[in-house]
Amino acid sequence: MRFLVQKFGGTSVATPEGRERVAAKIIAAKEEGYTPVVVVSAMGRNGDPYATDTLINLVRQINRHVSPRELDLLMSCGEIISGVVMVATLEKMGHPAVFLTGAQAGIITDNSFTEARILKVKPEAILKHAREGKIVVVAGFQGISEEGEITTLGRGGSDTTAAALGVALNAEYVDIYTDVDGIMTADPRIVDDAVIREKVTYDELCHLAHEGAKVVHPRAVEIVMQRNIPMRVRSTFNDLPGTLVTTTGEVYKGSIDITRDRLITGITHISHLVQFKVHFDAGPDGLKQQRRLFKALALAGISLDFINVFPHQVVFTVKEEVAEKTAQVLENTGFTPEITPSCAKVAAVGAGMTGVPGVMAAIVDALSKEGIPILQCNDSYTTIWVLVRQDDMERAVRALHRQFIK
Ligand code: ADP
Ligand code: ASP
Ligand code: MG
Repeated sequence: MRFLVQKFGGTSVATPEGRERVAAKIIAAKEEGYTPVVVVSAMGRNGDPYATDTLINLVRQINRHVSPRELDLLMSCGEIISGVVMVATLEKMGHPAVFLTGAQAGIITDNSFTEARILKVKPEAILKHAREGKIVVVAGFQGISEEGEITTLGRGGSDTTAAALGVALNAEYVDIYTDVDGIMTADPRIVDDAVIREKVTYDELCHLAHEGAKVVHPRAVEIVMQRNIPMRVRSTFNDLPGTLVTTTGEVYKGSIDITRDRLITGITHISHLVQFKVHFDAGPDGLKQQRRLFKALALAGISLDFINVFPHQVVFTVKEEVAEKTAQVLENTGFTPEITPSCAKVAAVGAGMTGVPGVMAAIVDALSKEGIPILQCNDSYTTIWVLVRQDDMERAVRALHRQFIK
């Protein structure tokens, strides 16, 4: 069987017309000789009756501290409703179909409620129904732990389900259908003239996704990359080819030589960060204080980003939702941090920048012309990040897009 995994996001399955368009894509794949295995997200966005955020708000209105276990049980309902509705749509159009929850589809995860990792996939049930000629529709974003608990895979996790099924079934492609035409040079909600990338490497998309381009979940990219399963990111709302995500080798064989043709693949952003600066005494006492600081934050389970360590100072950022806890831990450990709330991280990502001089100079040039101060910066072989004020974030993304892309 030639498996094709087709994943449809929340906006794609939000309306009856949308679901018929989705069904047409599935039927077209079947007519091309594929055995489609479909992964669906919950229908719609916040405010729509069965969307994930609507379900979360339903219990959070009663109790902000609902347990992650119960939250996962509730959130998993969104994809179940969506999947059953999709099966009904396909059958109405004359195509036998069957729905499987994550557990029924054999998605086995660890026990980390709301952020579970897939440990293995047992595809027997999918194979059985596919052999009977049925279109198998699987609930995205959910699995079951070895102890039998329902888990979810982190926000945007239906992509991860699709990737894991792609690997388990050795699919020809994992197609991620969404509300944009492919991977773009920046979030089109911020940059009007962002353009589609025809091809990107797994590595580039991993970096883009980790740095905030939420069009594909980073873990999904990591999973398909392990087995070189090609991924295509495309729109549910037209028939354009979208973006092919594959290895560097494939890209080199095609028309794009990334190191020559493009320095920067895309500009990304992550909002709602808080910067902390902690000052130390000089000498051995300062070193002890540094040790104490990092230990206390690690023990409190606080994840740090953008870490810069200097002899007299440590600077880092945390997500807004843990800023209060961070300040409390630092105070309890005897530190008085300087706190800058409302920051955002903007990144220029591109495999083509490796070893090329002048990229930082171009970033500083673009931002200073806009009067945007850089609060902090960091770099790796494919990415340069700058921290800016949240209010400057959109202008910073546009300025870097103009500088490097158009
Ligand atoms: P779905 O519900 O289909 O999973 P998501 O909302 O998770 O869709 O992802 C699609 C959205 O990702 C787009 O509407 C777009 O605003 C956003 N996005 C952010 N960065 C990018 C980018 N570089 N390229 C394309 N889309 C992006
Ligand atoms: N419905 C889930 C979410 O909104 C999973 C997904 O859409 O991928 O995060
Ligand atoms: Mg998504």
